[in-house]
Amino acid sequence: MKHLHFDEVIVESGSESSPIYRNLRRTLGHLSFKVVDGIGTERVTSERGDRFGAAKKTLYLARHRGDFLKKCPGSEGQVCCNYFVINFASNCPMDCSYCYLQEYLADNAALKVFSNVNDLIDEADRTLARHRGVFFRIGTGEITDSLALEPYTGMVREIIPYFAEQPNVLLELKTKSDSVDGLLDLNPKGRVVVGWSMNPQKVIDLDEHGTASLGERLEAARLCQEAGYRLGFHFDPMIEYPGWESDYQTMLEQTFATIDWRKLSWLSLGVLRQTPGLKRTMRERYPKSDLLTGEQVLCPDGKFRYFQPLRVEMYRKMVRWIRRVAPTVKIYLCMESREVWEQVFGFAPACEKELGNQMAPEVQQPIHA
Ligand code: SF4
Repeated sequence: MKHLHFDEVIVESGSESSPIYRNLRRTLGHLSFKVVDGIGTERVTSERGDRFGAAKKTLYLARHRGDFLKKCPGSEGQVCCNYFVINFASNCPMDCSYCYLQEYLADNAALKVFSNVNDLIDEADRTLARHRGVFFRIGTGEITDSLALEPYTGMVREIIPYFAEQPNVLLELKTKSDSVDGLLDLNPKGRVVVGWSMNPQKVIDLDEHGTASLGERLEAARLCQEAGYRLGFHFDPMIEYPGWESDYQTMLEQTFATIDWRKLSWLSLGVLRQTPGLKRTMRERYPKSDLLTGEQVLCPDGKFRYFQPLRVEMYRKMVRWIRRVAPTVKIYLCMESREVWEQVFGFAPACEKELGNQMAPEVQQPIHA
């Protein structure tokens, strides 16, 4: 993966005592570091032209105010996978044309990393300790890529040792990067899943700008598996185009040739989803993207998706190709309706808790590492 390029680092006063500040100083010491009293969005909103793209060039380090741990909002009418999220950064230095953050963070696009790691750990500890009978699956990639900034911030390296010791949690890092070097000498003790969002190289070249290649993602996954991390793969967003079947089959073959599927925690499938607002932004930022053409229908949750029969056909084919090699691997659909679940798998989870429990039963055991 190419090195990221930043123009400067802006630090909120008081964040200089954070281990993240120390890491940024060490890895980005050639840049100008400016300490300011408060972080606003003025710089971002005053940029002309591609404001969202420009925001990715300045890295902010600031204190996070409010709760770190939140229930994943899911999507209206869809079966949810009982997921919690921790946001340790906001926005992403990579730039996929379909990224929903372009709409979600339109008014708060600054690329921010949060400095108060101790507060994050204290809050997680209070929640996990108070509910030892509940098994938590916690993601970190809701409003950022979990690992893209890791070579600079060392954030994940700071928090893994805490989560590795907890009996009732699975921490998921979700990424399109290959930035795993800083993780390989830690012992995750079965408590950390690194999940890669996967697409054929053709889709990566056209629509996943600045991300790691398919080969780089797979090599990083192999290294993480060797180092004792659990793995997940998210074939999401699946894109339908002439020849997609052959490209997706080849990608699956490469994946299963590189990693041991028996140790996979789960695979997820999801198709391209776009709100009307995201489509408007994409038309401005990526007017030539093929993702703006093709027929889609507006679903009850306000997102455009391919017609239901096409979605079902795509999921069934993927499930068939996966099952040929990995007959017992857990597969779930991301943000899909009960009807689609039933047509693809012959059942739909009764409730989101059931789906969450199906995803991680074997890790709800005492740690023996
Ligand atoms: S890697 Fe994820 S968060 Fe980053 S731009 Fe792409 S879709 Fe958005």
